[in-house]
Amino acid sequence: MPGLAVIGHPVAHSRSPAMQTAALTALGLAGEWTYGAIDLAPGEFEAEVAALAAEGEYRGVNVTIPHKEAALAVADEVDPVAREIGAANTLAFADGVISAFNTDAPGLRRALRANPDGRRALVLGAGGAARAAIWALHSAGAVVEIWNRTESRAAAVVEEMDVPHARVVTDPDPGAYGLIVNTTSVGLHGEDPFAELPLDPDQLAERVVVDMVYAEGPSTLSQVAAERGAAVVDGLEILVQQGACSLAIWLGEAKLEPEVVDAMRAAAYGDTPPIA
Ligand code: NAP
Repeated sequence: MPGLAVIGHPVAHSRSPAMQTAALTALGLAGEWTYGAIDLAPGEFEAEVAALAAEGEYRGVNVTIPHKEAALAVADEVDPVAREIGAANTLAFADGVISAFNTDAPGLRRALRANPDGRRALVLGAGGAARAAIWALHSAGAVVEIWNRTESRAAAVVEEMDVPHARVVTDPDPGAYGLIVNTTSVGLHGEDPFAELPLDPDQLAERVVVDMVYAEGPSTLSQVAAERGAAVVDGLEILVQQGACSLAIWLGEAKLEPEVVDAMRAAAYGDTPPIA
């Protein structure tokens, strides 16, 4: 039976097994394919992934924290998007060859309801999620500005990535942006986004606010932004869309029917409905 899985450390909390199993069920493949979770400590990652690819039972894996850079390093072939972002969240195995992709970026693009072309966009953060967001927005024609708590890290990201016109800002005016994307982990453990990030609740109306963070229930940023009249895209929707893009890599684009994505969304959100 062909296997798929998510690899992380820790990984027990991941919603990907439920979400991808729902997709396989919607496709009528649940008896033929499986999707599980594999917890690998950083020192185990490369050897275990190479073994999985060589054995032939697994067709691919999603890769999450802390292995997204190692996933790039273990691959025999790297998709140009993953190469530019500098991280991979999806590996495909065929005949022992490991191919690496990044679906966080196309997932974010799919989750945005409007094309960001020409919009001024503020990306908060400078980690792996920020790099995917910067690539996604820049390649869609947005004018990207980046704020990070540690300014030097934001400067390094701009220098390393091929994103002409992107620049670092230290004191952004949230009212100046059509699109604000939080890629920091602020909110994951209950931190107050309006204390930790350069955001003012009174300046969120009529903006698109994206919060990559997802936890149990809606994040404070998503909730407040929606209350203040912003169009909100939450982290679970991005999770769903990156998962759908991964599924398309393993099974083919034709499998990405709307009903399949709907089944993934229902499994990812569980009892907590999308905020907007
Ligand atoms: P990362 O590489 O560890 O980066 C963390 C970022 O958060 C850094 O920019 C860090 O700033 C910032 N940060 C942490 N605490 C902060 C605070 N108190 N105030 C201000 N900034 C703070 O992590 P990552 O891989 O980019 O992931 C970031 C978040 O995105 C995680 O919560 C992850 O779960 C989420 N994510 C979601 C999806 C999805 O599908 N929805 C996909 C990918 C990631 P410094 O540089 O100053 O430390």
